[in-house]
Amino acid sequence: MRIITNPLELKEYLKNQNKSVGFVPTMGALHEGHISLIQKAREENELLVVSIFLNPTQFLKGEDLDSYPKKDEADKKICERAKVDVLFFPNAVDIYGEDEVSVFAPNIRGYVLEGASRPGHFNGVLTVVMKLLNIVNPTNAYFGKKDAQQLNLISLMVKQLFMSVNIVAMDTIRESDGLALSSRNAYLNEYDRKEALKISASLHLGARMVTRGVIESEEIIKNMRETLYPLEISYVAILNRDFVKIKNIELGNTVILVEAISGTTRLLDNIWL
Ligand code: AMP
Repeated sequence: MRIITNPLELKEYLKNQNKSVGFVPTMGALHEGHISLIQKAREENELLVVSIFLNPTQFLKGEDLDSYPKKDEADKKICERAKVDVLFFPNAVDIYGEDEVSVFAPNIRGYVLEGASRPGHFNGVLTVVMKLLNIVNPTNAYFGKKDAQQLNLISLMVKQLFMSVNIVAMDTIRESDGLALSSRNAYLNEYDRKEALKISASLHLGARMVTRGVIESEEIIKNMRETLYPLEISYVAILNRDFVKIKNIELGNTVILVEAISGTTRLLDNIWL
């Protein structure tokens, strides 16, 4: 495995390859969720690039940029084992200049749900993803459905800016008790982790209600909120795949999303019906 830190060096290396390129962007502290993306990308492409970059511009002031889990050595071993060809490990000065050119998330979709709790967060996400995609120029780029709003906005950016990369959406990997894997789960103490299980439990309740024939979003959201008590809820939302609120469940075209805070940790989860 080659480790490259300089964006122009990576561009130069990839220029002469003439192979299909799979790309998995991450912020490190790799877990089985990331590994599922890496394995899929390994299967589907001749050359596999993974990036580890803790992107400062997607963190708001006062958020956990400085305390975000870092596991550089373990991450390198995971990538090595997963037969990653190139690990791209830039630092912020290699990626960002002064008087920065940025990508702006759309006014509505970028500022609802997680974008409402974290205004400006998705500008940072889209800017770094645009930069990384331009550096790697992949055939396929892999993202998790767990970050459904991020996935939606990246797909929208690729479509609206006429980019040629294929975005591959990957299912959420969970612990055996249902908790969606996240690097931020490392912040949870035993009590908060137990409370956090209410998030996946509420989504399962939502799905069960649909199986029993309930289709009104309002009714499902009300019951899910009761399951989440006493967690602090940022939102429970039922949307279609275009991220527009729907009054009634549309099977095959629905995402139920929850963001809640357990202890001090903001956790996201969702289920696609
Ligand atoms: P992050 O390092 O948190 O930026 O995540 C990097 C990529 O891994 C993103 O596309 C995430 O959506 C994806 N990801 C994070 N957690 C999971 C999970 N539990 N299952 C599947 N993909 C995930």
